[in-house]
Amino acid sequence: MLDDLELGTNAQELARPAPEPAVCDVCRDDKYLRRCSKCKEAWYCGTECQETAWYKHKFCCRIGRELDSADYLVLDCYYDELPEEPSVLDDFGFRHFDDTDSRSHVLGLFVGLVKYLKVGDRKLHRWQVERTLKQNIIAAYSTLPEELRGEYFAWFLNHDWIFNLAKPRSLSDLTDALKQLAVSVLDAEDRDTPVGAL
Ligand SMILES: [Zn+2]
Ligand SMILES: [Zn+2]
Repeated sequence: MLDDLELGTNAQELARPAPEPAVCDVCRDDKYLRRCSKCKEAWYCGTECQETAWYKHKFCCRIGRELDSADYLVLDCYYDELPEEPSVLDDFGFRHFDDTDSRSHVLGLFVGLVKYLKVGDRKLHRWQVERTLKQNIIAAYSTLPEELRGEYFAWFLNHDWIFNLAKPRSLSDLTDALKQLAVSVLDAEDRDTPVGAL
């Protein structure tokens, strides 16, 4: 997308009515305009502005593939909004939590990756499909000095199971499971005895 910008001042373009408004979609500059070669509808002064706009422009461009959960996640990161698309919740660990605070921590982890570590949507998509999010996120953050990795990464190190399909069971779930197992092998008079007193 970035290396195939077309010059907007060739003969074919001049034959068309002037684009409205004839300014860069990002910086509003009206010099050296070139258009997105995929949809021919967005105008940019150069690749820097095109790159800046890509996270949202691709939602109205002809990108030649289906948009997926990583595209939506990156958009949410730039808008700093908790994801609502079911596929994002499922694919990127949000689904394990019902509370806004925990979901904000998951989002914060991805905001750091996307906006500061410059991990793009295709890379996130690949890590998600390969089920390598955990190790790749740790590797990406580890390129930063420890004091710059931030509270969301510290939180993630204590919640690094979030990309597993199932949430780890809590201690009380395990106790209940043990109790059920015990009941099936215990004598009738012991069945109501607390597990610890057996
Ligand atoms: Zn521009
Ligand atoms: Zn386009």
